[in-house]
Amino acid sequence: SAADPHAVLSEAVTAPLAGGGEIGYAALDYAASAPVLRRVWDEVAAYAPYYGSVHRGTGHLSRLSTELFERARETVAAFLGCRADDRLLFTRSTTDSLNLLAAALPAGTRVFVFETEHHAALLPWAHHGHRVHHLPAPTAPEEAVRVAEEALAGAPEGPKLLCVTGASNVTGELWPVRRLAAAAHRHGARIVLDAAQLVPHREVNVGELGVDWVAFSGHKLYAPFGAGVLAGRADWLDAAEPYLAGGGATRVVARDGDGGLRVSWAEGEARHEAGSPNVVGALAVAAACRALTDGGGYPALRAREAELLTRLRTGLAALPAVTELSLFGAESERVAVVSFTVDGWESGELATVLSERYGIGVRSGMFCAQPLVRRLLDADGDSEDCGGTLRALRASFGAGTPGEHVDRLIGALAALTAG
Ligand code: PMP
Repeated sequence: SAADPHAVLSEAVTAPLAGGGEIGYAALDYAASAPVLRRVWDEVAAYAPYYGSVHRGTGHLSRLSTELFERARETVAAFLGCRADDRLLFTRSTTDSLNLLAAALPAGTRVFVFETEHHAALLPWAHHGHRVHHLPAPTAPEEAVRVAEEALAGAPEGPKLLCVTGASNVTGELWPVRRLAAAAHRHGARIVLDAAQLVPHREVNVGELGVDWVAFSGHKLYAPFGAGVLAGRADWLDAAEPYLAGGGATRVVARDGDGGLRVSWAEGEARHEAGSPNVVGALAVAAACRALTDGGGYPALRAREAELLTRLRTGLAALPAVTELSLFGAESERVAVVSFTVDGWESGELATVLSERYGIGVRSGMFCAQPLVRRLLDADGDSEDCGGTLRALRASFGAGTPGEHVDRLIGALAALTAG
């Protein structure tokens, strides 16, 4: 039977970094939002009594908050291997980060994006008035590089941006980011990496990958909701109008003599961070970054995930009614995110049975990546009911996931599809 969700939450907060936490409810939806690490929680709690406004006052608490906020920025920049003159902006989420970048692109920028992207990476560009070239879904990483290269080579002069994901939120498959970055730069284009699903599983180093910007969300990286990051090249960000108009983003606001206002905007990060920032969120993201890099966090997590991923995929492969979804083929390298269909089941119905009868939480539906899911299911439907494509389920996991959760899912699917 399903566990008490509140008990699950308090347990999730204590999830140890390298696994082993016995949580009653099998929360296998880390790709949507991961549980908060105890250490992140503790750091935020330790700061809670000392809130003060940031960049505003000279009082003791205000100075403390400002220092902690700016230190969090440095921690995350170091975590991402940012170049010395990169900007690191705290945003609300990956969606917010990519919309901020879309709002900051020079006029006339052509954006190249694979149709397989998450809606957050697919949609902001046209929404902000840019010309978008949709690249067809590749069937192998090499093909992705070739398709991007050909499209960029054939594009007219002018600013260009390639937007790619590091790891798919549907198949978990890794994209050839380094090669795509090199291809973009060969053709005078910039590249932004949607690392929402990559950074919870793998080190992301902006300099080593050669990407111009990277975006990710704290809530998928074991921090609470509400904070994200956009980091990368300063030039386009500095030249753009502020993302939000308001306090903190201004240098001078004065009457201009005609009854109007003369505004000069701040430079640096402040330009795009108007309003009182989410200091708690920034601290939490920085704490999560430290948790993953201190004491071999990433290697431990990666080894544990690899073991559980094999266990899950082997278990699913043994069930005749289950088909794993993949764009690049079964052998492709992936993070701990697996989607599949189950013969005879509509995915929402199956997800409900799994939750209510077995205490397992998986995601069902289109995963905010409708073109990709339609493609994986070989469905052409483009109607709002998704053309009968509501067949996919997704299981994803990470720090603190015990093997029993994976076994429970396989056991439940075996029982529900037997006979
Ligand atoms: N990109 C990818 C690959 C994602 O998986 C997600 C979240 N599902 C997003 C972007 C958007 O992240 P958020 O909802 O935190 O803005």
